[in-house]
Amino acid sequence: MEFKGQTALITGSARGIGKAIAEALARRGADVAIADRDLDEAKEAAKEIAAIGTRTAAVRLDVSNSGEVIKTFQDILKEFGRLDILVNNAGITKDGLLMRMKEEEWDAVINVNLKGTFLCAKEAVKIMAKQRYGRIVNIASVVAFIGNPGQANYSASKAGIVGLTKTIAKEYASRGITSNAVAPGFITTAMTDVLSENVKEEMKKAIPLSRFGTIDDVANAVVFLASNGYITGQVLHVNGGMYM
Ligand code: NAP
Repeated sequence: MEFKGQTALITGSARGIGKAIAEALARRGADVAIADRDLDEAKEAAKEIAAIGTRTAAVRLDVSNSGEVIKTFQDILKEFGRLDILVNNAGITKDGLLMRMKEEEWDAVINVNLKGTFLCAKEAVKIMAKQRYGRIVNIASVVAFIGNPGQANYSASKAGIVGLTKTIAKEYASRGITSNAVAPGFITTAMTDVLSENVKEEMKKAIPLSRFGTIDDVANAVVFLASNGYITGQVLHVNGGMYM
């Protein structure tokens, strides 16, 4: 129960990787706040996770909306009294080749993935700096390192997250806050279910471990970073070897 007495906020955690992270943290004793755009789905997830035996809360949050982010962090602090772990997991894709990518598609992905991570980290460090303790884990992606045709917006947003992660690590190390990123490869979730079988088979060929990752593969990496006080500014790759 290494996180007993700690509070974690996970964005985009009503389903997929975020929900698995919330569950994994709760299993190790953390109280968890499930923040997602869809409040009903967030409530469902919070109810399920509460059965593990820790305190949970469901919050409606669009991470790209600064007003909502500020209010959410105030509410969580009021409800739980502290914030120890922030996992910036909320993310979207709007794929298309660069020539055809609309400005709105670029803006939407940057706003959720990169600006959302900035807004949430900004509110978190205010609380964590006072506590002199905090663990920030940002979810990046392998495409930040290798690029991906059709994902100019997404890969740029995830590469931006890597730079942001390292800067937070340097700015707040003296306050006991670590900041790291997990960069998943191809993980089976709703985000990747939309890809055609052909594309999936092609992708598998590029993975030395010959399988797609699971949501628990990613959640375990987040747990590791959240529990370690001497790793900061790092990217942990969880990709079956597709990028080394
Ligand atoms: P997912 O199944 O689509 O889940 C993402 C969750 O984030 C959804 O519940 C979604 O809510 C929520 N969300 C979207 N925009 C939001 C916003 N503005 N504010 C708050 N919540 C928002 O995706 P996933 O596969 O679990 O991905 C989770 C993270 O891992 C993302 O950052 C993604 O980029 C990253 N990642 C995934 C893979 C992969 O292979 N799956 C690989 C590398 C990185 P809605 O239902 O309202 O959309």
